[in-house]
Amino acid sequence: MKLILLGPPGAGKGTQAKMLVEHFGIPQISTGDILRGAIKAGSPMGLKAKEYMDAGALVPDEVVVGIVEERLQQDDCAAGFILDGFPRTLPQADALAVTLKTLDKELDAVISLVVDTEALVARLAGRRTCRDCGAGYHLLHEPPRKDGICDKCSGELIQRDDDKEETIRNRMEVYQQQTAPLVDYYRNLGLLSEVDGMMDISAVGQRILEILKA
Ligand code: ADP
Ligand code: AMP
Repeated sequence: MKLILLGPPGAGKGTQAKMLVEHFGIPQISTGDILRGAIKAGSPMGLKAKEYMDAGALVPDEVVVGIVEERLQQDDCAAGFILDGFPRTLPQADALAVTLKTLDKELDAVISLVVDTEALVARLAGRRTCRDCGAGYHLLHEPPRKDGICDKCSGELIQRDDDKEETIRNRMEVYQQQTAPLVDYYRNLGLLSEVDGMMDISAVGQRILEILKA
């Protein structure tokens, strides 16, 4: 199963990717997670990426394309992968096509999660992430059992720097301008399935599995 999850920030890509990881036993490749890991590790790439991420802008294509190229060649991607948050621009999509061709792999599906802008803003504003294990929560829709504490590892739940209101609006604009054209790009390739991302988390997951089975 070689899959792309497409959709604006807060659409539920990471949430559904985690369900698909469990279901299919294939890795989630989240460029956002990889970049946040690089920031945490204090690597030169992380330092460079942080400026863009804090502003809600996209990190330059060559940086993320390099990350994904390297990641797709690792052994755990042999049986498939779930791309979450990549590609985000047309040049990234073109670069992915070249990489997959070189690796003799083909995409099976692109799932586009469709969610209203106001709901996206509320999802991002209420999103909390475990500082230690990265598990995701939402203050209203997916709350932890104990306030501020991760159910899985008891780590502290934090709000991402780029989930603050000012940055959220900028990320929505960036999505419209740079990422939304990918919906037609993959539709034209016959790979796109749109899913109503306004349904609750388990209903969205069920719909995605139905599409992938078909
Ligand atoms: P993305 O990876 O697309 O940016 P996330 O998966 O991190 O989005 O989801 C953003 C926030 O919205 C999280 O706090 C998550 O718990 C919540 N969320 C995800 N899917 C849904 C849904 N279908 N309904 C309500 N809240 C959701
Ligand atoms: P995400 O975790 O997917 O919401 O991504 C968080 C931030 O990481 C984005 O706002 C960008 O700054 C950066 N980022 C993640 N993926 C990409 C990508 N494919 N291209 C460019 N920047 C990215």
